[in-house]
Amino acid sequence: MSTVFDKIVSLCKRKGFIFQSSEIYGGLGAVYDYGPLGVELKRNVKESWWQAMVYQHDNIEGIETAILMHPTTWKASGHVDAFNDPLIDDKASKRRYRADQLIEDYIEKLRKKGKDDPAEALHARFVEALHADDMPKALHQIIIDEEIRAPDSGAFDWTEVRQFNLMFETHVGPLAGGDNTIYLRPETAQGSYVNFHNVQQTARQQIPFGIAQIGKAFRNEIVARQFIFRTREFEQMEMQYFVKPGTQKDAFEAWREKRMQWHLDNGVRPEKLRWHEHDKLAHYADAAFDIQYEFPFGWQEVEGVHSRTDFDLSRHQEYSGKKMEYFDPQTQERYIPYVVETAAGLDRTILVLLSDAYREEEVEGEPRVVMGFHPKIAPIKAAVFPLVKKAGMPEIAHAVEEDLRRHAKVFYDERGSIGKRYRRMDEAGTPYCITIDGDTLDDGTVTVRDRDTLEQIRIPKDNVVAFVQDKVRDGKPRS
Ligand code: ATP
Repeated sequence: MSTVFDKIVSLCKRKGFIFQSSEIYGGLGAVYDYGPLGVELKRNVKESWWQAMVYQHDNIEGIETAILMHPTTWKASGHVDAFNDPLIDDKASKRRYRADQLIEDYIEKLRKKGKDDPAEALHARFVEALHADDMPKALHQIIIDEEIRAPDSGAFDWTEVRQFNLMFETHVGPLAGGDNTIYLRPETAQGSYVNFHNVQQTARQQIPFGIAQIGKAFRNEIVARQFIFRTREFEQMEMQYFVKPGTQKDAFEAWREKRMQWHLDNGVRPEKLRWHEHDKLAHYADAAFDIQYEFPFGWQEVEGVHSRTDFDLSRHQEYSGKKMEYFDPQTQERYIPYVVETAAGLDRTILVLLSDAYREEEVEGEPRVVMGFHPKIAPIKAAVFPLVKKAGMPEIAHAVEEDLRRHAKVFYDERGSIGKRYRRMDEAGTPYCITIDGDTLDDGTVTVRDRDTLEQIRIPKDNVVAFVQDKVRDGKPRS
């Protein structure tokens, strides 16, 4: 882990963005809780996604389906048989790794060293191995031939590669085992597929249309590291777009563009985002690209855009015996729709925003840490300070705070020097600090300090609500 990443993780705990789950008991691996600032951040990201997907498109409907589903769902989706990760153990440290990721990281290292030809050759072999009948063995052979060492111990003492299913099992009713076994959903998408007809008919949608949902998903990740990047309990923001077979390419390209734009609209720096084409398409997919972000620990996926053909609906038709077809009233055709999916991780998006926002700067000779969130993403939109705790300033400050509180998350602070109060809000990523001072008593104006430019302007105190609302709505990301 890089030091910047360590600092982000520690800031998250110190400021109340994210805590380890059940920390007082030593924590539970790869499970996290969101604190007062983190939960606001999360709500803002969800809101931004819901706005962009559901409210901006009259042919996208939102739903919320249950975490627990009929177990046949996961047979139909292929998760029971094929939701496996290829794992390998370092015998020296007893640490477990994903074999495919070890190889990918090794290829990236070769590229960084300028060894492009060996990197390309290895990449070709890697892709071949992913398609091999005995994929674990083929991956293992690459690790041995390339003498890839364990990242933590530096040892070259590997076990075989084994496949491991990532679904969490639980039981319905008092008896364990047998027919009572059900799963915690590993993705939200299947809830949208099984409700295809319910949504299409009740919302009276015609193809093309989409079903969007935000919800928890669970994966028993064996190699869960890097904070909230890969966790066992997480949230997804997924949209399934149903199209006429043959039109999926256009829909796919259109959604790729829109999804990249969404990350940019949240204020993420363009140079930190890129597309990555899948090395191995799932057997049912006809195109798959990931949006990657350059985290402090390297380029990694944050969202996938996948063209999934009619695989999911066909399988549910097969396993349920219920027709999953669509009847086109215009052309009188009947067909199983194709699907273009946009699948983003909510927690991973939050890690993108935290990583992108974190800055260390010097201001008037003093170091400061500032989280440069876009105003619409920032957990607290404005802070209100009386310059001193007397002369009627706290009363006016509380009145301004009360006005703002009806519209946005605000924070009132009268403790410590104004400089300290600014620093606290910089670390929380609060874009505007409003100070009530001597001039307020004379002319009714307040000082507004901009987190990024440090510029201070005076506006009438009665305009504070409109000012903050405008900025949150139209605010530009930091330059
Ligand atoms: P990965 O290759 O990183 O395991 P994936 O390709 O299996 O991810 P999808 O099944 O396409 O991921 O899920 C869509 C999104 O859900 C991912 O882009 C990611 O943002 C998020 N996601 C998946 N697994 C996890 C996890 N264990 N923790 C946090 N987010 C996750």
